[in-house]
Amino acid sequence: MAYDVVVIGSGPGGYVCAIKAAQLGLKTAVIEKRATFGGTCLNIGCIPSKALLHASEVFHEAGHSHATLGVDVSTPKLNLPAMLAHKQATVDANVNGVAFLFKKNKIDTFIGTGKVVAAGKVSVTGEDGKVQEVEAKNIVIATGSDVAGIPGVDVAFDEKVIISSTGALELEAVPEHLVVVGGGVIGLELGSVWARLGAKVTVVEFLDKILGPMDGEVSKQFQRMLEKQGIEFKLSAKVTAVEKSGKGAKVTFEPVKGGDAQTIEANVVLVSTGRRPYTDGLGLKEAGVEVDDRGRVAINDHWQTNVSGIYAIGDVVKGPMLAHKAEDEGIAVAEILAGQAGHVNFDAIPSVVYTQPEVASVGKTEEELKAAGIEYKSGKFPFTANGRARAMLHTDGFVKILADKATDRVLGVHILGYGAGEMIHEATVLMEFGGSSEDLARTTHAHPTMSEAVREAALATFAKPIHM
Ligand code: FAD
Repeated sequence: MAYDVVVIGSGPGGYVCAIKAAQLGLKTAVIEKRATFGGTCLNIGCIPSKALLHASEVFHEAGHSHATLGVDVSTPKLNLPAMLAHKQATVDANVNGVAFLFKKNKIDTFIGTGKVVAAGKVSVTGEDGKVQEVEAKNIVIATGSDVAGIPGVDVAFDEKVIISSTGALELEAVPEHLVVVGGGVIGLELGSVWARLGAKVTVVEFLDKILGPMDGEVSKQFQRMLEKQGIEFKLSAKVTAVEKSGKGAKVTFEPVKGGDAQTIEANVVLVSTGRRPYTDGLGLKEAGVEVDDRGRVAINDHWQTNVSGIYAIGDVVKGPMLAHKAEDEGIAVAEILAGQAGHVNFDAIPSVVYTQPEVASVGKTEEELKAAGIEYKSGKFPFTANGRARAMLHTDGFVKILADKATDRVLGVHILGYGAGEMIHEATVLMEFGGSSEDLARTTHAHPTMSEAVREAALATFAKPIHM
């Protein structure tokens, strides 16, 4: 049978694309090589990490700030197997949910490795080695990404002592000392999980700041907060070796600018230096599908590859490696295939670090605006001046709003604080509609809420905030 659309990969990009395509009346199939649907995000990424982040926060809260709030709790005891079981139950509920949605939308599924044979033809190799061919008017490549490792360094992952993010989601005991190589989102989220559960955590980062492209001021203050929580940082440090050693493993690094090498011993080393687009075994070369200089499937502005009828979305193409970006591209491609106008606004894709406090941002950073020569004004408001934050003992952090100097249009919003990942969406909606900081400042916000700080920061871009 010929399908209208065959999607290779069932991560947030692939499964959302398939559901939308089926909803729009297209005969759709999905090919997935993992035993469960949902891709990296649902199986070994966003969902399990958020389950552990929340559980470890509850554990930490129980042992720390409750006394100040008048709640006496005897020292909490960690039940790691139960915590990991909660994580797995959350994953199971989500991946089963995708299987249910495939059935509900009458999407055919093939379990096996998909390979593009040519435009209109995909082969699926099952675990038993049997190969079947599937015909499709359109093919959508949504094969995602995989752990990248450290350029030029041989890292022998065993997922027990030298681990990737996948191993960091299932450690059977809290390591005494965890060294995290890479101070990006994944390393800081998972590092903070194990720090809260009792590990000493040291982060070794190549750049002179954590969280790479995030706003510099946010990154600096966030680092201070993590340091207060006991996490240590070695910045501007180039890792040259990660090896097993007596105690567990050791990490050797030297200053980026040159100098003596240092070695740190650890029980466990988490290497979280980024992810690479995953196209292994996809047959792209044979099918004539071009990749770019970073190994990503090359696409035009409509997610079309150079071969007619073959599209690509999500982590395997350019743009931020985020689940919601993959989802939105999946929807846009399904709409295009159904004859509609699919679109994604890449200027308004929020990005969240789910630590405690959270970091969230949308749009341009101050560094980006300066580099582009755009004149802007900045408004800032700290959570120390927010009544709800004080009531909840969550006064760390601030909201910063960057607006065009001439037009007042909001160009970037950066929030460091409790609940930042939820608050960022009012800024995202505002930016989607091309709103100004005055629009935001004149919008009534319920009192008392953390979101009032967003309004006050908007007010600070063109007038004075009320509560400061
Ligand atoms: P994937 O989710 O990687 O899915 C690709 C699927 O394709 C996989 O299931 C794979 O098995 C399958 N596949 C590959 N090749 C083939 C083939 N040849 N045949 C058949 N199937 C194939 N993003 C966020 O936005 N928020 C977060 O909080 C977040 N947390 C994360 C935490 C961790 C620890 C990690 C690792 C990532 C996190 N991410 C997060 C990133 C997010 O997981 C990815 O951006 C997202 O999964 C990309 O979706 P995708 O559909 O492009 O690919």
